Amino acid sequence: MDVKTICVVGAGTMGHQIALQAAVSGFTVYCTDVKAEALQKAQDFADKWLNGRVEKGKMSAEEVAAVKSRLNFAGSLETAAKNADLVIEAAIEILEIKRQIFTQLDRICPPHTILATNSSYIVSSKIADATNRPDKVLNMHWFNPALVMKLIEVVKGPHTSEETVQTVLEVSRALGKVPTRVNKEIYGFVCNRIFSAITKEACYLLDQGIASIEDIDNAVRNGLGHPMGPLELLDLTGIDLEYNVLMERFRETGDPKDKPSPALVERYALGKYGRKTGSGFYEYISK
Ligand code: NAD
Repeated sequence: MDVKTICVVGAGTMGHQIALQAAVSGFTVYCTDVKAEALQKAQDFADKWLNGRVEKGKMSAEEVAAVKSRLNFAGSLETAAKNADLVIEAAIEILEIKRQIFTQLDRICPPHTILATNSSYIVSSKIADATNRPDKVLNMHWFNPALVMKLIEVVKGPHTSEETVQTVLEVSRALGKVPTRVNKEIYGFVCNRIFSAITKEACYLLDQGIASIEDIDNAVRNGLGHPMGPLELLDLTGIDLEYNVLMERFRETGDPKDKPSPALVERYALGKYGRKTGSGFYEYISK
């Protein structure tokens, strides 16, 4: 299937950069959000980032003008989704909200449109039955920051057609990314399963007073060769997101091992969500 127009639902941490990456890669993009200020922030970010590319000599003024003309911000889901070949939903990580969005998308979009969720943990089989096109529903999981990280996990649900998977793998490559195909739905997919094992151990070491925040991150950076330590990475991806994900998992399994660690609970309770609030495991002077 020929994908030319992409709609991004949710212009937050992930959505604003997914939209920009898609426009830079030559797609026509419509980005929408229920909050006008989130859309304005996304547009301001895109303008600043694109102007910076010209200043650094990475893009010409003409190229930037072409990207800007392809990147649209729309307050209504109807306007944003009605001509989309692919929708990437990057709204808040709450199942009921995602199901509502998919029901609306199913009504608004043409029959050929693929509906993807960027959710990190909600598998698309929990959403697909909110539509009349389950064969065109799947997880397309980006990584933060979406403009920089190369991986997209393309996850086939039991309802997803092979054609849909192939199209999204192809689009991922056209977006300048290196996709990993995940053949079956599994909690955390591939990358976050491995990441959560590492962060869990990092929080345990911190809680036990075995090593400081800086020393844990230093060990992982310089001993394992990771570009970032797990605690600084949690600050980047959001302590609130991690806390909510673990609580959701704990509610499902009832297994105390799945509960967020004291290091996370304490920061979550104080509203120290990481970079986005200026404080998390580390302090940030400017957000
Ligand atoms: P965020 O809270 O930064 O942004 C979510 C945005 O969705 C907000 O701007 C909010 O106003 C908007 N929104 C809420 N309800 C909406 C609706 N009904 N219609 C349109 N917009 C709506 O969240 P985020 O960190 O960008 O995460 C978004 C999704 O991406 C989640 O499913 C998350 O699991 C996934 N994800 C996040 C990361 C990460 O590192 N933050 C990485 C990969 C995937």
